[in-house]
Amino acid sequence: MKVTVFGVGYVGLVQGAVLAEVGHKVVCVDVDQAKVDKLNQGGIPIYEPGLEPLVKQNVEAGRLSFTTDAKTGVEHGEVIFIAVGTPPDEDGSADLKYVLTVASTVAEHLNGHKIVVTKSTVPVGTADKVRATLGDKLSSLGKSPTFDVVSNPEFLKEGAAVNDCMRPDRIILGTDSALAQKKLRQLYAPFNRNHDKVIVMDVRSAELTKYAANCMLATKISFMNEMACLAEKFGADIENVRKGIGSDPRIGYQFIYPGCGYGGSCFPKDVQALVRSARAVGHDASILEAVEAVNYKQKEKLFGYIHQHFNGDLAGKTVAIWGLSFKPNTDDMREASSRVLMEQLWAAGARVQAYDPEAMEETQRIYGHRADLSLMGTKESALSGADMLVICTEWQVFRAPDFDLIKERLSNPVIFDGRNLFDPGQLAEQGFQYYAIGRGLSV
Ligand code: NAD
Repeated sequence: MKVTVFGVGYVGLVQGAVLAEVGHKVVCVDVDQAKVDKLNQGGIPIYEPGLEPLVKQNVEAGRLSFTTDAKTGVEHGEVIFIAVGTPPDEDGSADLKYVLTVASTVAEHLNGHKIVVTKSTVPVGTADKVRATLGDKLSSLGKSPTFDVVSNPEFLKEGAAVNDCMRPDRIILGTDSALAQKKLRQLYAPFNRNHDKVIVMDVRSAELTKYAANCMLATKISFMNEMACLAEKFGADIENVRKGIGSDPRIGYQFIYPGCGYGGSCFPKDVQALVRSARAVGHDASILEAVEAVNYKQKEKLFGYIHQHFNGDLAGKTVAIWGLSFKPNTDDMREASSRVLMEQLWAAGARVQAYDPEAMEETQRIYGHRADLSLMGTKESALSGADMLVICTEWQVFRAPDFDLIKERLSNPVIFDGRNLFDPGQLAEQGFQYYAIGRGLSV
């Protein structure tokens, strides 16, 4: 099938490449000329495992191309995905300006029946707005082609996005159009062979499903972080508690890791957006407000331990940080816990010496060159002359480090671990002071 994807970010680029891989002819449109140029020259603007060869093979095979020319894009696809960003606007609601701009652009170049699919995460009621924008623009241009608007939210996880799109757990289609359902079932058939993963529902339920999924996951994290705070107060170990509750199949072990807070481009903004949408219909989403508040505090936790350990005397201290991205296997720094920590450390007069396997370029782009930030080539070099080690992201390469070397390089043998990677007993034996989340010290 001929498919067009608007937006070549984490979602659009991966989805476009995966659809091309199974044989569809995909044109990706983006307004960012630099991104499109980079992709056309064989470069990949983001880090996502397995994405680079997939894009390369499909470009070479002539099934995947990139352009800034919206007309070419709209005329090409019988199915048109909207996969542009929906960042929070000033009050935390999802900003729909990019989504509605695409809807208007699609109307401008419409050359026959199209199925317009919102893949971006959008508040309930957005499909109606997309439909109205398309309709208004078409009538202002005196055009009358028909179109369907479908909600097909995306559930990929950054860091595992290619696999998630190749083997989706579910494919949600929010539509009441038999034609749109038939076409999208055909489009997704290559990913739907093992058993039927397509769940068809009304548009509003599909839109809410995406928010409900992300808010449930964020709730699990904040719940565990709240338990971790209680474990600290009561002198319990949250890691024992985690294992204890995870063994109940109704709870399960997945997604109940305590840590220094959730970040990324989705959970923070989606929780916030649902709180705002709820308010707009006269409902206080109290659970979600608490989820957000707990996460906000949790992101300040590491600084709290550090501040306490050094009695507030952080001026001139050098802090080695391992891990900057909001989670492993991505270069994405949006809402990363490391950013809250670094900004607090800088405000207290400390220097940061950091290493991340993929996110250092992005860190440099965000913070520029500053005297109190050194981005180091290896995790070992980040330790040299530092007064402490802090772990913000659980990249695999940090899980079994050479503790003798860490001790040798740090001026104080102290580790602050935001991801509970190590065994406190072993670290104590090796002469470290070890602070982890919910495992002892109360802040
Ligand atoms: P992103 O910021 O990485 O990419 C968005 C892209 O859209 C950018 O390249 C931007 O230049 C482009 N764009 C903006 N306006 C455009 C226009 N008028 N025409 C063409 N392109 C335009 O965003 P993302 O992380 O890919 O997220 C996209 C959407 O998918 C969001 O709604 C997000 O909530 C949702 N989502 C994201 C993830 C994730 O893990 N990143 C997962 C599921 C859903």
